[in-house]
Amino acid sequence: MDRDRVKIQGLGIDNCSMDEAVDYAYSNGGQIVTINPEMISYAKKNPYFTDIVSSAELVIPDGIGVQIGLKILGYDVKRIPGIELGKALITKFSDNNKSVALVGAKPEILKLTVKNLIKEVENINIVYAHDGYYKDEDEIVNALVDSKPDLVLVALGSPKQEFLINKLKTKLPKSAMIGLGGSFDVWSGVVKRAPKIYQKLGLEWLYRTIKEPQRLKRIFPALPVFIFKVLKERLFDGKC
Ligand code: UDP
Repeated sequence: MDRDRVKIQGLGIDNCSMDEAVDYAYSNGGQIVTINPEMISYAKKNPYFTDIVSSAELVIPDGIGVQIGLKILGYDVKRIPGIELGKALITKFSDNNKSVALVGAKPEILKLTVKNLIKEVENINIVYAHDGYYKDEDEIVNALVDSKPDLVLVALGSPKQEFLINKLKTKLPKSAMIGLGGSFDVWSGVVKRAPKIYQKLGLEWLYRTIKEPQRLKRIFPALPVFIFKVLKERLFDGKC
């Protein structure tokens, strides 16, 4: 795929379709970041996280916030929900006899996720699965390296998942690795994804906030502050 990267708040974002993202990850491996406004704001405060996002092989706009921000800057970019990209990657890798590893979520959620994926995805080969509430990160890293997965799905929430993937990157240079936030909660069947109408309108965040009001603290003031900063970026011609 020809890379079409646009910039927002100093970070490069890939403008591609779901199929292009899957093919790129399948052929090249590397880190896939599904980015949202909270993560962009966090990158502003944390240079280490900025470096991780900047060196990721794919940075995909996950939610409508980034899409709106890019629109303000004059870019029309497709939104790809991380949860759908994750599933498409599992299917592609499994169709091609490649192995999969999962890290994240509560133990019972992970168990249900593995069970459901085995049921749903033909030919899936899960070589490693661990919940996200471990004490010794090195133990997880070593176990993952030993199991040599072609695709690693990490659902720890951001930035934890990006930090773990970054640690793994040099040790598993050929594997594709993606951070998937709360996707295992949905794949387990325990948490319901927002109804289609919310998904279509880009309002999945609103549905999740209604269901889990404690998320409001995370979204506000991050979202309005992000939009304000992007408006400033536009006003000052990218010199913000
Ligand atoms: N999680 C985890 N280990 C931790 C903290 C969180 O495995 O130390 C899991 C948590 O159980 C949930 C996911 O990470 O499944 C984060 O979900 P959240 O909805 O916060 O992520 P988002 O989708 O908003 O990025």
